[in-house]
Amino acid sequence: MPFPDPSQTRWIVLKFGGTSVSQRARWDTIGHLAQARGRQHDARVLVVVSALAGTTNALQAIADGVEDPSAHVAALAQRHRDFAAELGLDADAVLQERLAVLHALAADVRAATRPLDWQAELLAQGELLSSTLGAAYLRTQGLEFGWCDARDWLDALALPNQSEWSRRLSVACRREADDAWRARFAAQPAPLLLTQGFIARHGDGGTAVLGRGGSDTSAALFGALLRARRVEIWTDVPGMFSANPREVPDARLLTRLDYAEAQEIATTGAKVLHPRALGPCRDAGVPLAILDTARPDLPGTAIDSTAAATVPGVKAISRRNGIVLVSMETVGMWQQVGFLAEVFERFRVHGLSIDLIGSSETNVTVSLDPNDNLVSTDVLARLSEDLARFCRVKVIAPCAAITLVGRGMRSLLHKLSDVWAAFGRERVHLISQSSNDLNLTFVIDEADAEGLLPQLHAQLIGSGAMPVRNVEVFGPRWREIAGALRPRETPWWRAERERLLALATPGAPRYVYHLPTVRARARALAAIEAVDRRYYAIKANPHPAILAALVEEDFGLECVSLAELRHVFDAVPGLAPDRVLFTPSFAPRAEYDAAFALDATVTLDNVEALQRWPETFRGRALWLRVDLGRGEGHHEKVRTGGLASKFGLPVARIEEFLTAARALDARVTGLHAHLGSGVETAQHWRSVCDELGGIAERIGSIETIDIGGGLPIPYQDDDEPFDLDAWSAGLAEVRSAYPNYRLAIEPGRYLVAESGVLLMTATQVVEKGGIRRVGADAGMNALLRPALYDAYHGVHNLTRLEEAADAAFDVVGPICESGDVFGKQRRLPAATAEGDVLLVADTGAYGFAMANTYNLRALPAEEVLA
Ligand SMILES: *Cc1c(COP(=O)(O)O)cnc(C)c1O
Repeated sequence: MPFPDPSQTRWIVLKFGGTSVSQRARWDTIGHLAQARGRQHDARVLVVVSALAGTTNALQAIADGVEDPSAHVAALAQRHRDFAAELGLDADAVLQERLAVLHALAADVRAATRPLDWQAELLAQGELLSSTLGAAYLRTQGLEFGWCDARDWLDALALPNQSEWSRRLSVACRREADDAWRARFAAQPAPLLLTQGFIARHGDGGTAVLGRGGSDTSAALFGALLRARRVEIWTDVPGMFSANPREVPDARLLTRLDYAEAQEIATTGAKVLHPRALGPCRDAGVPLAILDTARPDLPGTAIDSTAAATVPGVKAISRRNGIVLVSMETVGMWQQVGFLAEVFERFRVHGLSIDLIGSSETNVTVSLDPNDNLVSTDVLARLSEDLARFCRVKVIAPCAAITLVGRGMRSLLHKLSDVWAAFGRERVHLISQSSNDLNLTFVIDEADAEGLLPQLHAQLIGSGAMPVRNVEVFGPRWREIAGALRPRETPWWRAERERLLALATPGAPRYVYHLPTVRARARALAAIEAVDRRYYAIKANPHPAILAALVEEDFGLECVSLAELRHVFDAVPGLAPDRVLFTPSFAPRAEYDAAFALDATVTLDNVEALQRWPETFRGRALWLRVDLGRGEGHHEKVRTGGLASKFGLPVARIEEFLTAARALDARVTGLHAHLGSGVETAQHWRSVCDELGGIAERIGSIETIDIGGGLPIPYQDDDEPFDLDAWSAGLAEVRSAYPNYRLAIEPGRYLVAESGVLLMTATQVVEKGGIRRVGADAGMNALLRPALYDAYHGVHNLTRLEEAADAAFDVVGPICESGDVFGKQRRLPAATAEGDVLLVADTGAYGFAMANTYNLRALPAEEVLA
């Protein structure tokens, strides 16, 4: 006897949906997976299958009384015969009995009146057919598969309050079984078993079905009844995501959830798993996994109740359209006992189930979800009429419900300020926070919700409310899975490790710049035909070797102070002044005078300077910096457009500026806008360029349009490199619309950030309250960006680069400020110790340039690798 006590047999339940059972190759996968899982868990395997794709809809049409049902039955029979042939089976031998039942049902006297029991029996035929075909095929492949009728094992329950319809066509089933039941089930001789999803035994001995999503629920029920080790739902998507991937391509695969979160996500949006399927597994404590039949190597979504699955944070954001709000104003009746009972009774009478509720002293507003209700205009009209007896009624539709799901929502509210701000721009009809602390829902007009989710999803990540750095919970992005991610190159410093280790000196932190990387970026930009002139914004990194290299690569230099101007002429002997651009902000008059004296091109961004310093600007050629009325970029502090920003002349004052310039006989030959740093979208650039083109046309004397800098680089591991192709395509389009202007750019960061690393030495490793910190001999004095902008920089242990980064550390500096932190919970080798060389990546821009001697710590050293 292989299984001495059948009631103690270990089981794995695998479920495969319609698309997974409609192709021969997929059945090979099913057979292969069943065998592999059995071996892996030393368990017997029960496979639960759906009907062939489309079959249930076809059967439903017959059950609903289509015309000429026999033609539909014949088509279904043929479909299954064809598939039998594809599987290399003798269709007659395998299907004859089953098809006879199908034909008999169509010819049954009940077909005329279509009673519910007949409908259920008819609907059940799809799964009976597919499982029969599958079992026969798998046996021909040498697998010992037994077939069982799910109706012999799943019993429908008749619940109180249930309609006759749902007692037959959307049944709930018994979830507990005794050892005798399990022993009987295990007594089926074949080691692998195949059965049907969706179908169960009605109390009267006939057939019942579980309704939509029923196959998932069947698998979960079998999992609970058998006390299975796990239930795997194999489907045609990789699992649950942090948002609908079709709407938010950056949505993350959720690799670990607890039952309650998964339940909320399934209920509020994700169509991957039917919400009903979770209950049986949750109650029986059976882990559930969602996996992709076509991509079996992906981790999928594992749902259980272990600690790993209960990380606090927003896990998903979803949108449900078609929500109907019913707003009820009352005058004075609200406090009366029984008022709400009366109101809700009206909804019950009209068969409507309420989703969300908001209330105030004089108003009660409820939402109706069309997925749970038949909310026709008829029903709403009758409901309104009925309610009008108690209160003033207003129906608001169509609305969208936007829901954030995640454990510990209350403790996250302070991180949601960007999200609140986004909703602040829309009309929010209702906000609801569930008392189980899992769900926060905003109801707004459906039209306002369009396009909002990608923005909100990004904000949730940016604010830390969605903890995507937690690799236990957040898997790859949809775009990555779909193969639509642009690859990143290996950073140069990996190949230069030995040289860098030799350069590192304890107590003397050091920046190292890699000139070949600077040149590579410069050449990538130089190859863009739409751009005529390229200036390097030297404030990012004014190291003389970098300036010389970029001038050699045919870049001009952009300066923002007189000291920078003097520096470039010193650093690059023989630099032609017409390659130098001066774009200061609130500089003193003397700096403008000096810039003109040096023959640099000068940019001005206000009228006041023209009025107060006429002699400085009289007869000069000038560039005008405008503020297009909005700022963009990776952080508030680098957005350099918008009324709140100190940069740029408002577009509305251009006329005034031109008049003042004309009075001084000054010519405006360039038009400049720099909106901010780290601007990601190609569309944004296109529109800036387009807007400037329009303004240039009106000014008339413009020769050059300068769209500024701000090209981003991928600081985080999973950031994508900037899409230069999409960017240049957009510029080329606008360029051809305004062929009379030269187009200029002035990137800083893009050219130099990735070329630089900061080398530091670990000073101390300290554990406190469960947090491990590694200290370095440099901090915010050497690299200010993390403290100033919350900027992310990768931190690596160069000494132990070969060791797995298997422990989490907060990486901190030696400065007496609580903000002196490079990064929290960074993965580094567990053995990280005093004396190790730590490398901070992508610090070539705004690194040394912003370094300071706070705490009287010396400035870091600088080194160049040619
Ligand atoms: C800083 C600055 C730039 C460069 O910005 P990056 O984000 O480094 O590309 C370009 N133009 C002006 C006017 C700037 O002030």
